[in-house]
Amino acid sequence: MPTFDAETLMLVIAVFNGFMVLVWVLLGRVFQIAPQTSLLLAAAHLILVPSFYCPSCGALWPEAFGTWIAIQPLLFGLCLISLGVNRLMRLYSKARWLIGVTGLTSLASLVLNVAGSPEAGLFAHSLGCGLLALQTTRDIWTGRDADLPRPVTLFLVLPYALLTLLLLSEALAVIIWPAPPRWIIGGQTPKASVVWLYLLISLCIGVGLAGLLVGRLVKRIKYISLRDPLTGALNRRAFEVALQNLQALTERGHNHCLIMLDVDHFKQVNETLGHAGGDAALQHLTTILNANMRALDQLARLGGEEFCLLLAHTPLREGLRVAERVAQALRASPVQWRGQSLVMTASFGVAPCLRDDPLGERSLAQADALLYRAKTDGRNRVYVQPSENERVSDGIPPSAPSGFHAQQPSAGGH
Ligand code: GH3
Ligand code: MG
Ligand code: MG
Repeated sequence: MPTFDAETLMLVIAVFNGFMVLVWVLLGRVFQIAPQTSLLLAAAHLILVPSFYCPSCGALWPEAFGTWIAIQPLLFGLCLISLGVNRLMRLYSKARWLIGVTGLTSLASLVLNVAGSPEAGLFAHSLGCGLLALQTTRDIWTGRDADLPRPVTLFLVLPYALLTLLLLSEALAVIIWPAPPRWIIGGQTPKASVVWLYLLISLCIGVGLAGLLVGRLVKRIKYISLRDPLTGALNRRAFEVALQNLQALTERGHNHCLIMLDVDHFKQVNETLGHAGGDAALQHLTTILNANMRALDQLARLGGEEFCLLLAHTPLREGLRVAERVAQALRASPVQWRGQSLVMTASFGVAPCLRDDPLGERSLAQADALLYRAKTDGRNRVYVQPSENERVSDGIPPSAPSGFHAQQPSAGGH
């Protein structure tokens, strides 16, 4: 296996940083993906290039400034990466702190270098950089998505943790040893084994951040393609998939049910509150529905003011209870819109998921027929298929419910 000297490896890190500049400019400028954060990260990688391409360039300057100048790219590059990560994680809170640490570190190392104490200047530099890396480690950990697989989380966090360790131990080493040891990066070329470590950290940070952004983007696209933008409920396409999944489980003997509901006289809600008020009313209804369902239940907007709740592993009588609870909550909680208050009601059809119905068409038609019946019987009520039908495997003709159980409230309507 060929061995690389430290200078070659430093050059590789510089080239990699240059490549990452292109990647972030492409993401931010051409594809307009998180433009500000992308440009921040492009600038970070650009600033980092000279600290690896020309670590001893500071020697061109008078000695007091030379060491100070040589360590600035690493400090400011790290600061920009920290700011970029802070934004990427949507924390935004630590920007002032990060800029403050960077400014203070730069100032302290300048003063100490000019005062003839380059080791103390290097100590301030390593400590400041270490603190930036530590904050970034915390930000990545705090802002990570909860559903991220553990190996991915480790891949994102570890390089920053390693960098923190390296920089803080550099600070410690400067205090302990009279002359800066060869594994410190500031202003000199360290040992090849240390540069390997920096190369690994650079690769992980570069790939990790770009991967994080692309992953977020894919998640967002998935969300947009599956959700209704107004209410956040599943859209029709996602609902069909969810229903089919539930129907597949039904074949294996599980009990599920669905609740179809439609707001009563919604046209009047629009006329009273205006279209924007009608939108707010739909969001209000969604909030109530979400508050009355479990994490494994799914809510879909089938169109206009018509919704369907898919209740997994739920017997019909429990589905009825949920529908009654929602109806009651809706009556008890009027829509508030620009000083107006309006009681909204809805009609419900509750039906079990039937067997031999892979697409869920008959289950849905059954709930729809009950909902239609609730409408024609005066609205503001819950109709449910009699519970014995829950055991029927070949279903019930959708257009003619064999019987129903009506739950009619004593008060309500608008
Ligand atoms: P019913 O009790 O029979 O269901 O009467 P309805 O007025 O609720 O039903 P209809 O289907 O006649 O009217 C539904 C109205 O919902 C018509 C449409 O303008 C309105 N609508 C559909 N989607 C939206 C939306 O996203 N926002 C708002 N504000 N209104 C919507
Ligand atoms: Mg309606
Ligand atoms: Mg409708």
